[in-house]
Amino acid sequence: MPVIELRGIKREYRMEGKHLSGKKCKRSKDGEDAVIVRALRGVDFFVQKGEFISVMGPSGSGKSTLMNILGCLDKPSEGTYILDGIETSTSDSNTFAFIRNRKIGFVFQSFNLLSRTTALENVELPLFYRRREKGEKGFHDRDRKELAIAALKTVGLDNRLDHFPSQLSGGQQQRVAIARAMVNDPAFILADEPTGNLDTGMSLEIMELFQELNEQGKTIIMVTHEPELAAYTKRIITLRDGRLVSDEEVKKARNAPDDLAKWKKENILLMQDT
Ligand code: ADP
Ligand code: MG
Repeated sequence: MPVIELRGIKREYRMEGKHLSGKKCKRSKDGEDAVIVRALRGVDFFVQKGEFISVMGPSGSGKSTLMNILGCLDKPSEGTYILDGIETSTSDSNTFAFIRNRKIGFVFQSFNLLSRTTALENVELPLFYRRREKGEKGFHDRDRKELAIAALKTVGLDNRLDHFPSQLSGGQQQRVAIARAMVNDPAFILADEPTGNLDTGMSLEIMELFQELNEQGKTIIMVTHEPELAAYTKRIITLRDGRLVSDEEVKKARNAPDDLAKWKKENILLMQDT
């Protein structure tokens, strides 16, 4: 069974006002001044367990709209989205919230950690939201802590449990965010420009971590502007004007650990030169 099945996904935004007439859009039937922006015009694809996919496309092509739908933050105007066997389009808001918390691990460009909260507490947070009504057990403090420490260990930060975000580098903060995304063992990780705020070395560290997690069987979907980063994934989906214009397997993905080692070597040499 695929982790994700998207069929005929359309998303239209209805907007009022004449000032929008320059946009690629069609005029609505009922309102003179309203226009319909067709952000997604029928997108189909499946994702199998264990894939590592990047979503690319120019600004305005529909990437964020697609991410919001994949992340169950928004519903399509048309089409079906089945996540881990659950038909999301017909589910109520409770189920929608359950899916978001349990099935999806979000990673954002800006990390989105709570600033007055330690690394450990940040990672524990999703475990507090587990819902008893879905037949799941709540957690005892000790179990919650153990799971969070295990997740931080996976990202190499079990020696930073009591650090606040401000006491961590950008790369370390993003690793805490990745630990938080994984702690609930979601069906997939959804990362939106995860290295957008990081320098080359830290970006490579994040790619290394994603490749490692993917090797352990985690399914990862990453939106990125940068072809150099997409080259670390196994499949590249490209959007243009709300349509999927290409869906290609990466024949030989770049190896992040190798590139990171090379980068470090070059930069240490540079530092010795000056
Ligand atoms: P990308 O993330 O690839 O830059 P978006 O998904 O943000 O693209 O946007 C796709 C299209 O939909 C754009 O034309 C954008 O202006 C439009 N759009 C996005 N969100 C909204 C919204 N909330 N209301 C109206 N139009 C929107
Ligand atoms: Mg966007």
